[in-house]
Amino acid sequence: MKSNDDHHCIFCKIVRGEIPSARLIETETAIAFLDINPVCHGHTLLLPKAHHPVLAELSDELAGKVGALLPRLCRAVTAATGAEGLNVIVNSGRVAGQTIDHCHWHIIPRWSDDPVNWPWPHSQYSGDELEQMRFRIERELRA
Ligand code: AMP
Ligand code: ZN
Repeated sequence: MKSNDDHHCIFCKIVRGEIPSARLIETETAIAFLDINPVCHGHTLLLPKAHHPVLAELSDELAGKVGALLPRLCRAVTAATGAEGLNVIVNSGRVAGQTIDHCHWHIIPRWSDDPVNWPWPHSQYSGDELEQMRFRIERELRA
């Protein structure tokens, strides 16, 4: 898959205006529109206009420019829907639930009586597993 523009990518088609979307905001580098099959009404998607399959591939600069829209979008979705809270998540990879390979943030309004099954189950570290994990990730961050 090319990293800049994918003719088979549904989000690239939305960016190019080839298929319709309920657009909310657009900048030079980013676009946000309503998810067509919302988890809850007001479910919004935010993405870079450039085709990058997963979040980890974004440059710091591009991630900063796209991510900078998140607080404003969260305020607007909350005010417009009356949501009691929000989930802001990115699914990266099939195993994590990603179905469209063009990196995007989900902004999902939430209510105490909505049907969403949350939170995820949590586990525990035992022994020195937590410190070993901290060491491994911190080493990668320095690499
Ligand atoms: P993900 O599963 O994280 O890749 O999220 C993809 C999201 O895109 C899903 O929540 C879909 O409902 C949404 N989606 C798919 N096609 C469209 C479309 N044409 N317009 C708006 N949202 C879409
Ligand atoms: Zn794309």
